[in-house]
Amino acid sequence: DTIMEVKDLNLWYGDHHALHDISVDIPKNQITALIGPSGCGKSTFLKTLNRMNDLVEGIKITGNVIYNGENIYAPKVDVTWLRKRVGMVFQKPNPFPMSIYDNIAYGPRTHGITSKVKLDNIVEKSLKDAAIWDEVKDRLNTSALGMSGGQQQRLCIARALAVEPDILLMDESTSALDPISTGKIEELAVELKKKYTVVMVTHNMQQAVRVSDYCAFFLLGDLVEFSETEQMFSVP
Ligand code: ADP
Ligand code: ADP
Repeated sequence: DTIMEVKDLNLWYGDHHALHDISVDIPKNQITALIGPSGCGKSTFLKTLNRMNDLVEGIKITGNVIYNGENIYAPKVDVTWLRKRVGMVFQKPNPFPMSIYDNIAYGPRTHGITSKVKLDNIVEKSLKDAAIWDEVKDRLNTSALGMSGGQQQRLCIARALAVEPDILLMDESTSALDPISTGKIEELAVELKKKYTVVMVTHNMQQAVRVSDYCAFFLLGDLVEFSETEQMFSVP
């Protein structure tokens, strides 16, 4: 099953042609890792999947990304809706300077949910899905900034899940964390693919081998290989 079809995608930062004719089907309920050397376009490509780099000045994008039956670059597409359906977690944990509860409730509130019962349920479910509920359930009203880095990153995952996305984009989301926290996020990613589709940028090949089902290998703006991870890393 394919959840997103990328067709002939090109991207320029001014004169710099950063992505060349990328076509790939993103498999549903799988983990796809974007790999390749620094500067090859992994992060740029990831951000094209929820139009996170539209804001960059001088950027030009051609081609299509078909999701939910339409091109996400079509003029009528509601980018706020898109970013809710295709959530994102960044390299450094970036919780809002507010309570753990309010971090999770923030997205649902901006989408008009005000009922305390509903918000309580969303907060609990999201924190459970992000495997952090047991650690924080007794301090939901304390500041998120008091958590460890690894906990903050799982909170950021929970915050993305709170608006019920289909796809979760992770941009080097463990590279600022210690090995134990990294292991927890890797386990979590594997758990998440039962309900969600995960696309992750990693510079860590071992991580790609450990957690991903598919790998997309980029070199200098080209997608040079896309295949099952096992196949890509098997010795012929
Ligand atoms: P990776 O994630 O693989 O390290 P990036 O997607 O960050 O690569 O970058 C791909 C290329 O595009 C690099 O040459 C980088 O310098 C360039 N680039 C990235 N972001 C911008 C930007 N905002 N403006 C101009 N060039 C950029
Ligand atoms: P990361 O390793 O997290 O991708 P970078 O140092 O590559 O961080 O990029 C940091 C920011 O600068 C990003 O927003 C990226 O898009 C932008 N950037 C990267 N390369 C360039 C460039 N050549 N010109 C302008 N902006 C760039």
